[in-house]
Amino acid sequence: MSRSDDLRLGALLNNANCYKDPSIEIKHHVALLGYPCDVGVARNGGVVGAKEGPAAVRKMIEKVGPLINPEYDIDLRCIEFFDAGNVEIGESLEETHSNLNAAVKDLLRKGYLPVIVGGGNDQSFPNATALIETLNSGKIGVVNIDAHLDARPLVNGKPHSGSPFRQLLEHEKFKKDGGVFHEFAVQGNQCSLEHVNYVKSMGGSLTWLSELRGKDIEVKEKFENVLKSFSPRSNFVSFDIDSIISSDCPGVSCPAVIGLSSQEALDICMVSGKNIDTKMLDLSEFNAVVEEKRTSRLVATMIYYFLMGVACRP
Ligand code: MN
Repeated sequence: MSRSDDLRLGALLNNANCYKDPSIEIKHHVALLGYPCDVGVARNGGVVGAKEGPAAVRKMIEKVGPLINPEYDIDLRCIEFFDAGNVEIGESLEETHSNLNAAVKDLLRKGYLPVIVGGGNDQSFPNATALIETLNSGKIGVVNIDAHLDARPLVNGKPHSGSPFRQLLEHEKFKKDGGVFHEFAVQGNQCSLEHVNYVKSMGGSLTWLSELRGKDIEVKEKFENVLKSFSPRSNFVSFDIDSIISSDCPGVSCPAVIGLSSQEALDICMVSGKNIDTKMLDLSEFNAVVEEKRTSRLVATMIYYFLMGVACRP
């Protein structure tokens, strides 16, 4: 909990006046949007429970992250952190996706940098199209940090948590306008060759987890290079937390025996926030039914590191 001598992220999110100092100029606008839906996970045959993710993250946001980080010397009080609530759940997944798409477009048009907390990874296609429609251009860069490719075909013509990036790669405007796509930290023990070939055939690129190991270059730099390769496009960073090793991140539908460390995940979030071309971040697959205490703290801290990156922008 925030105390007056130790204010936490919750004070920023709730726009608490206790820290207001007229000498501090608000320079950046970030919005938190919850996507409390795991219908897409169920459709993909996964363990349900991700619909509880946004509530668990909001609870933890109250507690984590001092507003002035004395280790990095970063002051978050230059950020407006607006809680946009949760997406309205519709009668069908398709209706919920359409509500999500509209909510994200509304935030982007108001000048916010949306952080969307899921919920299933199926959210990433409606999120990507919200950016494309707002910019009226498919010339964007999308990076999926994930153990999986999530480029599976639709099931009976319907989207699910394993299909968002196939939908993106086949999106007309994305293809026509020169959109680029990268899969980061994907694991060969969890991906089919057919799907890898599909992603490559559609112009996508990928970095295997093993390519991030045993090298002099750090994960942080490798990721920075991916974002640089997107320039001058607007970026959408999509982070599936099942890319993080399950000893660090137990609360997911599909816990990973190997993966990114929590430190690497935090570094990726900070690099994403710093990059002025990053227009949106989504965090998927936090399953609070599988495990809540540690994983909610990890996800809330990932948001904290993203905000620290944003605070470093000019
Ligand atoms: Mn995924």
